[in-house]
Amino acid sequence: MPLLHKIAALVVVCSLVLGLAFQDHRPRHAHRAETTGAHGKAPAERLSGRPSATPSTAPSTTAPAGTPSATPSGGATAAAAPAAVQAKANELGQIPVFMYHRIMKHPEASLDRSTKELYTELTRLATTGYYPITAAEFASGRLDVPLGKHPVVLTFDDSTPGQFSLDAQGNPAPDTAVAIIQQVAREHPGFRPVATFYCNDDLFALGPRAADGLRWLTQNGFEVANHTVTHPDLRTLGKAGVQKEIGGMEDKLLSLTGRHTTTFAYPFGSIPHNRTWAQRLDGRYSFQAVFLAGWKPSESPFDTVFDRWAVTRIRSEGKIKENDCRTFCSTAWLDWLDAHPQERYTSDGDPGTVTFPKTFEKRLAKQFRPYAREY
Ligand SMILES: [Zn+2]
Repeated sequence: MPLLHKIAALVVVCSLVLGLAFQDHRPRHAHRAETTGAHGKAPAERLSGRPSATPSTAPSTTAPAGTPSATPSGGATAAAAPAAVQAKANELGQIPVFMYHRIMKHPEASLDRSTKELYTELTRLATTGYYPITAAEFASGRLDVPLGKHPVVLTFDDSTPGQFSLDAQGNPAPDTAVAIIQQVAREHPGFRPVATFYCNDDLFALGPRAADGLRWLTQNGFEVANHTVTHPDLRTLGKAGVQKEIGGMEDKLLSLTGRHTTTFAYPFGSIPHNRTWAQRLDGRYSFQAVFLAGWKPSESPFDTVFDRWAVTRIRSEGKIKENDCRTFCSTAWLDWLDAHPQERYTSDGDPGTVTFPKTFEKRLAKQFRPYAREY
């Protein structure tokens, strides 16, 4: 990232942290106003619970979309399956969406993480029951996660070469994030090697091999997603500027991969004056979800307060003092979720049903009632 970007990133990061520092962030409804405020769309416009027909990068899950095995019952919510109860399934729990930037052997800037730190963090996820899904799968509401596992979304911003690069044989180069993800998956069978890449104009410094690289990613279950052409602060741009930045990147990715992207992340987490400018532009782009920059796990997509136009992410970082990472970054949040397992999303193993303990009943968004399983 150029120096100016770094400075702008720090400003945004600091303002986010300052904003949060004055609130108790732990209760999950602390930011209800922020996440549901001005965009209280009709339920039909919010998450539909089934993949939208428009984006061409529909999740690769095989279960039939929106056709749960369940038959909606008229009155009382159906009972949860015994295995789901035993696994303490809670599909109204929180889901960590991790945000990574540069991955390098020797970090140079504050948002960088070392290859060793990434390996260690992914190993922790793999050994504590987490199961990676892509941002697109998360946004679709079809979370095809094995029974008892916890979904996690791994996102990498800015398409830098330490995240992904090809060796001479056309495979992921050693010590890149993709190679490390694959290594952890080999060492821990059941840990699914997928992630989402929020890309800018310079695609992993692949140059003429960009199309080959993106093809490798998409063919191997990784999501290629939109992060604007030049990584501007969208808050400083008007409608045409926002659309040019997002539309330009979409055109480029479409021409290289043959498919539209499904999700978008704001550069610096900075929100334009009108959020709809970034959500869709007829004939150019149409997202299913937009991701912010911090600083808490996301609500479940089945939660009544979930806002798919403002999905919160967590910066990957240890419990360092900077930016209050002792509380708000990934290590701290994983510790917190370990200590509060009832607040964490745990899968019932069936992507067609939404299982939860009775105490979470009020959190269920109306449109998912037909698929509810309670215990
Ligand atoms: Zn970025």
